[in-house]
Amino acid sequence: MICEMCGADQESLTLVNVEGSLLRVCSSCARFGKPVGGATPSVREEPEDRADVAGRLKVARGRGLERDLFADLPERELDPEWSRKVRQVREKLGLTQEQFGQRINEKTSVVHKLESGALEPSDQLVRKIERTFKVRLTLREPPVS
Ligand SMILES: [Zn+2]
Repeated sequence: MICEMCGADQESLTLVNVEGSLLRVCSSCARFGKPVGGATPSVREEPEDRADVAGRLKVARGRGLERDLFADLPERELDPEWSRKVRQVREKLGLTQEQFGQRINEKTSVVHKLESGALEPSDQLVRKIERTFKVRLTLREPPVS
């Protein structure tokens, strides 16, 4: 076989890249080029389009409607006189609004709002007041005298 660079007749030639041209050259000429042989040409892969992926992940998920399922099912109906009853039981026990609040772990301002009717107590707060002060603020059962 003839070296394509120097013309020498060789048993085997090496394929090299010489300034962009692939040449079969002898072993002594191989140093002038870059070996191609088994070397895998570096393949530049297209990087994944991150923006596109992010866009797909951003697809808005509709929020479930479970939140309001029980909104229309109050456990117990408040006594229309509940705010007056709160004040009555507090005065009966000789407590200030601050002391009353401390007993149920609520701020004085909360007690004040309850007694003025400005704040409707949650079911949890109703139960807490009922248990703590032995008073009934709901209509399901007759009031405790
Ligand atoms: Zn050669």
